[in-house]
Amino acid sequence: MSSVYKLFNSYFPLTIQNDYNWIWYTHTLGKIRFFLWLCVHNCLPTNSYLFRLNITSSGNCPICNSEEETIPHIFLRCPIAIEFWTSLNISIPSDHPQWILHFLQSNQPLENRHLTWTCFLPFALWHIWLNRNNNVFKQCSSPVPIPNLISRVLEFLFSTKPLKKDITKINFSVKWFPPSCTGLKFNFDGAFNSNSLNHGIGVVFRDSAGNWSAGFFNKAKGINACHMELQAFHEGLMLAISKNLSVSEIETDAIDIINMLDQPPPLFSNLLSLCRSALRNLENPQIRYNFREGNKVAHKLATEGPKRATTYDMVFLMEPPPWLFELFH
Ligand SMILES: [Zn+2]
Repeated sequence: MSSVYKLFNSYFPLTIQNDYNWIWYTHTLGKIRFFLWLCVHNCLPTNSYLFRLNITSSGNCPICNSEEETIPHIFLRCPIAIEFWTSLNISIPSDHPQWILHFLQSNQPLENRHLTWTCFLPFALWHIWLNRNNNVFKQCSSPVPIPNLISRVLEFLFSTKPLKKDITKINFSVKWFPPSCTGLKFNFDGAFNSNSLNHGIGVVFRDSAGNWSAGFFNKAKGINACHMELQAFHEGLMLAISKNLSVSEIETDAIDIINMLDQPPPLFSNLLSLCRSALRNLENPQIRYNFREGNKVAHKLATEGPKRATTYDMVFLMEPPPWLFELFH
């Protein structure tokens, strides 16, 4: 907690820190420590910084153009940053950054994801910065992909040292995010029910406004959960190709499937090679992991759909069915 306090302290001139050695002891990745070091020394190549060096023609924020692009602007006041903190249920008054210090000092447990503030915050700032760079490069204004960020923090925590018992719990309301650029996002899921034959797969395609473009469920046969997920993935890809859908992102909570694309197990190698070739056909859309909460529409299609199906034919849905209405909206 103290390092976070110092981190934010150092951003704002109200309390001046001269000793930044704490950064080198922060429990995070080396590149993020270096990034923090640049932040606290005000050397991050923001537009404001580059303008002072006569490298850019304007010091304004290249994304919102509402004011000078300073470090506090990027991390607190830019609409992208506001959206980021808002979706994590953290309200930050843009005109009073000291409020953050009070918030951090309050040590308020937010929700139930097992992350430490000291670990989460450097990653969060780093991802806001990466996202800013990506937006500037692609000339778009995509939100920070929070599920990706959380996965990175968890990955780091679990691969470094065990969590302490007294960690501060943070609760994130994980949700579905629209695709970051043009094109559709498709979410898929499979459901395996060892007590019945109601296994199923579900796929939903949505556009950048979150509108339903297409979806389907299928009562399907399979040997385990992974097999169902893989079938959902494959059927979704095939539908995208047959309907000529422009897919820019694919998302699922089926982490096994994402891992399998790198290291195909012998059992499903045929299905996986079909998926790989379909992905190439779709010009390799980005594949992302999201938590189950962000993949719940596809999950509901995979679990509820098969209970309503009498045959093994695909049930194509031009719009969300009534039993999905509440979840979808
Ligand atoms: Zn901005």
